[in-house]
Amino acid sequence: MAEPLDARSSDGGSFDARPLDIASIRADFPILAERVNDSPLVYLDSAATSQKPRGVLDSEASFLAHGNAAVHRGAHTLAADATEAFEDARFAVADLVGAEPESIVWTSGATAGLNLIAYSIGNASLGRGGKAADRLALAAGDEIVVTESEHHANLIPWQELASRTGASLRHIPVLDDGRIDLEAAAGIIGSRTRIVAFPHVSNVLGLVNPVDALVGMARSVGALTVLDACQSAPHLALDLPTLDVDLAVFSGHKVFGPYGVGALYGKAEVLEAMPPFLTGGSMITTVTLDSAEYLPPPQRFEAGTQPVSQAIGLAAAVRYLGNLGHDAIAAREASLERRLREGLREVGGVRMLGDAAGVERVALAAFDVDGVHAHDVGQFLDARGVAVRVGHHCAQPLHRRFGLTATVRASAAFYNTEDEVDIFLDALSGVRSFFGVEGTR
Ligand code: PLP
Repeated sequence: MAEPLDARSSDGGSFDARPLDIASIRADFPILAERVNDSPLVYLDSAATSQKPRGVLDSEASFLAHGNAAVHRGAHTLAADATEAFEDARFAVADLVGAEPESIVWTSGATAGLNLIAYSIGNASLGRGGKAADRLALAAGDEIVVTESEHHANLIPWQELASRTGASLRHIPVLDDGRIDLEAAAGIIGSRTRIVAFPHVSNVLGLVNPVDALVGMARSVGALTVLDACQSAPHLALDLPTLDVDLAVFSGHKVFGPYGVGALYGKAEVLEAMPPFLTGGSMITTVTLDSAEYLPPPQRFEAGTQPVSQAIGLAAAVRYLGNLGHDAIAAREASLERRLREGLREVGGVRMLGDAAGVERVALAAFDVDGVHAHDVGQFLDARGVAVRVGHHCAQPLHRRFGLTATVRASAAFYNTEDEVDIFLDALSGVRSFFGVEGTR
């Protein structure tokens, strides 16, 4: 196993953290010991979904085996204990992002969170939610601004909202080096802008976007900000209130937790103003045959039976990350990021997307191999036990902007080793000769 490298971020800053014990971390993730196609698994697809430590698997199983009951409904002891565990999980997830528990709404994931926001604003635009919701209502002439680098989950809900309300959708372009074009943004975000939605970290480029600058521009025109924190939550120490975004989403399965759970963060006054999207049980105070009164947030947005065991599993993941320490994780991942990116630069015929210098980034790189289709690269690597993602990564407009339809994406997490990155790079070095295209590492 490789020794931990020195702890320095890619933008030159240094981390003051004790190196992680990588061998014991890997022992916490049973899947990392698997073999695939007769080779040890090299899992470099954490941006698609992360692996889960044993504590997460055990906490879910233990709840289901010993504590399972419907939350917020029963008067019996098991139900009360389940409710307490579920609400404790909300505390843990709130803590992960520096927020109050009332600002955290359970969702089934980031996609569900973004749709919740867009449909809630759509309902406000129909006059639902009373006076408080009026500030959110959109109409013809209003503008929603996104970036060219969106995951489809932070694009299509806004397209749909625009078409339902008559608002227009505009986008901030991405520069050749992957950075968001802030000069263009300053010209696009203006008096008509009502919503600015953008990714904290693009799932293709890996760059940490300038939240301060975009929030500042949005604030100056009174627009609502929506942060897609799917690819930052697993890697950065997040403090959403300090970032000053109005709303943010992320998915549990990408932060080493279970599938089927995620969180929507909202500032208290914004959640308070938002009408519900899904309606039904558990989100009401009084119901008649003709109408209903709704609970305050977060319950207003949690209609129906919630992902209880998954939320408890997610809280276990958050505790696991907390025990490792966010600085130590960042230091470890900065080392992997450097190894990955520097190595890729040396492989002949490889073009990385978003290779901007001096920008903070996560350990993720999407690239094109000259003369070999991304799917062939993926199969070649898979045959050697290396799991990467190939395709458009749910970001077709961004790929189109770079003249591509598909790329290969390698994404690491703190449980990966430098040796694994090297195995990946060595295998990749053989791809072009295997497919009869020149070029070596
Ligand atoms: N946003 C980004 C940046 C993502 O990477 C993803 C998933 O890949 C999503 C949104 C959607 O997440 P989910 O599929 O978990 O809802």
